[in-house]
Amino acid sequence: MQESPKFTFARAHTAEHAFVGALQNLLGQTLSVVKVEHREMNNTAFIKTIPDMELGLIMQAQEKVNQLIKTGRKIILHTFSSLDQAKKHFPSLRANEERIVEPKQVTVIEIENHDLAACAKDHVTNLTECDFFLVTRVSKSGDITEIDFSVGLQAREVAIHTLRKLLNICNETGANINSVENTVKKIKNQNEKLLRDLKNYSRKSLDAIQPYSVEKNSITLYHGIFEDLIDSEIREFASKKIADSKAVVIIANAHNTESSNNPESEPAATIVVAANKSLKDIDCNRIVKEIVGRGGGKPHFAIGLIKIDDMSNVVKSIVTLVKNRL
Ligand SMILES: [Zn+2]
Repeated sequence: MQESPKFTFARAHTAEHAFVGALQNLLGQTLSVVKVEHREMNNTAFIKTIPDMELGLIMQAQEKVNQLIKTGRKIILHTFSSLDQAKKHFPSLRANEERIVEPKQVTVIEIENHDLAACAKDHVTNLTECDFFLVTRVSKSGDITEIDFSVGLQAREVAIHTLRKLLNICNETGANINSVENTVKKIKNQNEKLLRDLKNYSRKSLDAIQPYSVEKNSITLYHGIFEDLIDSEIREFASKKIADSKAVVIIANAHNTESSNNPESEPAATIVVAANKSLKDIDCNRIVKEIVGRGGGKPHFAIGLIKIDDMSNVVKSIVTLVKNRL
């Protein structure tokens, strides 16, 4: 059944009153709603952030709104000659100045025994008309918390779409809906541990490179070909080696792309060419541009991209070129 835009708007807008009212009751204080945007598929409430307005509490407020929708609450209109009069009558009144058109009369929207707000927009007559309320996003920006929500048919579509995503995540992770949060936390922890291990492995592999010494001018050459090391560790190793000794570093690293999202992507490796700044004859940027083709950088530090099959030849060519120049 097609809803009229006016009804969709009134229902979403009334649900916003119920939701902010539920948040206020949980927090024990009146909130300031800076603005509310209503769109075809969702809505956003911009609320001044206060301490404790966290996701858990927002979820509690969402449950409360759905309980009130289920049991039904009347929407009652109170009219006053001014906002001051209205506030005198309802001291905890929430008022969004934008929504009140003074000096005409001020309308206070009461959700029976739940919420009071001064507002000039359209509302439904009972909360049951809101049908279903879902918070779909919470994000903080400066001192404002943005809360996206959907209502009625919108919310049902969002629920179907979101649940499909959740079940896909369960399918991918081997979890069920009850265990998926713990499973994701476990995967995150495992991933962090594996990354730490891989960093250690990368450092150890790089430290095990046997340096080649060019005795006539006491230059040390570090070169090697690796697979699946962490690139940032290679860059750090190269920077350290060339920082305060006459060193040249040439390291290629193949990236395993089998699990990549794009199976047709070219197998790729990176190559780092770095030299101590005093070695003016070794222009790493030029070497990468001329021998590797793709990449570049500074005269003392450059990075290139090569095919995995070319790693050995490229490293050999650069080592030969460097040795001839030293
Ligand atoms: Zn309103």
